[in-house]
Amino acid sequence: MENAHRRWFGEKRGRLAVKAFHNKGWIAYYAESLEEAKKILFETCLPKGVSVGLGGSETLAAMDILPVLRSGEYRLYDRYNCADHFEVCRESLLADYFITGANALTMEGVMVNIDCSGSRTAAMAYGPRNIIAAAGVNKLTDTLDEAIARVHRIAPMNCKRNGHKTPCAETGVCTDCNIPDRMCNHLLITLNAKKFAGKYTLIIINDEIGF
Ligand code: SF4
Repeated sequence: MENAHRRWFGEKRGRLAVKAFHNKGWIAYYAESLEEAKKILFETCLPKGVSVGLGGSETLAAMDILPVLRSGEYRLYDRYNCADHFEVCRESLLADYFITGANALTMEGVMVNIDCSGSRTAAMAYGPRNIIAAAGVNKLTDTLDEAIARVHRIAPMNCKRNGHKTPCAETGVCTDCNIPDRMCNHLLITLNAKKFAGKYTLIIINDEIGF
């Protein structure tokens, strides 16, 4: 019963958020599951033959999109299988499509992301011709303040996941560290997506994915 109610709540909030993002200029989809999100991505959003850059994302990993992107039907800038990660991330900035997760989405249609190197926030702000983001309903917040708080709250988990040698990766507590391995370097707030019609796509998934 509890899961059924959570699923019901996720759908209500997910569909409301889709409307809010649509109102802010995003092409926005609601997906009931990871499988449905993957289908929307490959059958509706991503044309065959295009070049694709990727942002690091637990959501994309859960969608298991890499095998499809590596199938030869796309020109993938493969940040997970390359000799020079920095160069591949630079090249990804001019990809036809940049696919990524998102750290927080407000119910008013604002997206917030925090980044270490800036490769993902840079791509989301400008460069690739198209952006496609996917995120679970666990990323939804009611206000922008909550969204910003959320990206800082989850940062220790991202540090742990990515092997950053930060105090928070040991203790789970942010000390506003001042070291090279610091992850919280670039904060991007995407307030509106109407500048380039059709550039920004979001898939909101009724599932708890990533952090
Ligand atoms: S500022 Fe440093 S300590 Fe705080 S969450 Fe980010 S990486 Fe961790």
